[in-house]
Amino acid sequence: MEFDGGRLQDAHVMVVGCGALGNEVLKNLVLMGVGHLVTVDFDYVEDVNLTRSVLFRADDVGGRKVDAVRRRLLEINPRVEVETLFGDISYDVGTALVRSMDVVVGCVDSRWARYCIQRICIRAGRTWVDGGVLGLEGTARVFAPGRNCYACSLGEKGEEELRRRMPCSGVVRRSIRAGHAPVTPLISSIIGAVEAQEAIKVIAGAGQDTSPRMFYYEGETLTVRTPEFGAWDDDCPLHEEEWVPEDGPVTFTVASKVEEVVREGEISLSEPFVDYVINRGTGERYDVMVPAHRVESVLESDPAAGGYPTGMFRAHEYDSVGRDFPYGELTLGEIGIPPRDILKLKTEKGYRFIEIG
Ligand SMILES: [Zn+2]
Repeated sequence: MEFDGGRLQDAHVMVVGCGALGNEVLKNLVLMGVGHLVTVDFDYVEDVNLTRSVLFRADDVGGRKVDAVRRRLLEINPRVEVETLFGDISYDVGTALVRSMDVVVGCVDSRWARYCIQRICIRAGRTWVDGGVLGLEGTARVFAPGRNCYACSLGEKGEEELRRRMPCSGVVRRSIRAGHAPVTPLISSIIGAVEAQEAIKVIAGAGQDTSPRMFYYEGETLTVRTPEFGAWDDDCPLHEEEWVPEDGPVTFTVASKVEEVVREGEISLSEPFVDYVINRGTGERYDVMVPAHRVESVLESDPAAGGYPTGMFRAHEYDSVGRDFPYGELTLGEIGIPPRDILKLKTEKGYRFIEIG
């Protein structure tokens, strides 16, 4: 198999997670000649990262991981284009941005983050390559829409684990922070290489399709397995149609007011918007006016909330906003829509998809 250098130079790849594994994947993609990268991470470089991650240096400690990897990748190849997105894949990444990628590579360590990557990739019609490392074990898998789905592959135990972290209506949920599992630079190097290889096969396209197998490596006994792997159940809630935006100029941005946009149709929200919460014990009401994932931090920072645990609160929330939404003067950004997203609008004639800036 040969790789077309021009094709790699033109390729756009999003890498989600810039930890030890993401470092390896990014380094490999740049060495292979991939020309355009988008890096996504909400974390900062800590001392403990330095002994595990190929791209971090002592001077980077305290700074954003996305900025540190960008500096280092430009040292390797100054012509590579690296766009940084300091944020969370669950809420801060637009579907249109993912649609502009050739492939997405996941280097995250939580089920919830993987679930969110799968959701946005199905909407964007893009394949993603997932990698996971723990101790001396690692896996790499390719999820192509219509063939493999992360949610369908979970099994009962995994679904239960996911449900506990899933947003569920009426409950103020705890924000999900990735756990810190012990990871060696060796296992990251092995799995990061396989992930980059699979991503490049996806970019290479027709005739060089990725095989429907997963890669499993266990270092202690030097065991490698590549079982066949296909998971696509018809009743999975993530299996949506592809969100193909209408042709034409992009007229709305995250700074556009909700009242202007809802004239085009009712906006479906991936993440509910919460205007207030009620204390289940005292019946008191607190206004929050944020997307659901930010409710906890608002309550914690607000002394008026009285220091109650967030489980004490019931949220009043909107899953969609239409002409009757009482806060039409808010912007799309303020109700939680990320830049370069695709809006799903419900109209009398069915659904429309429009891209925003
Ligand atoms: Zn599924």
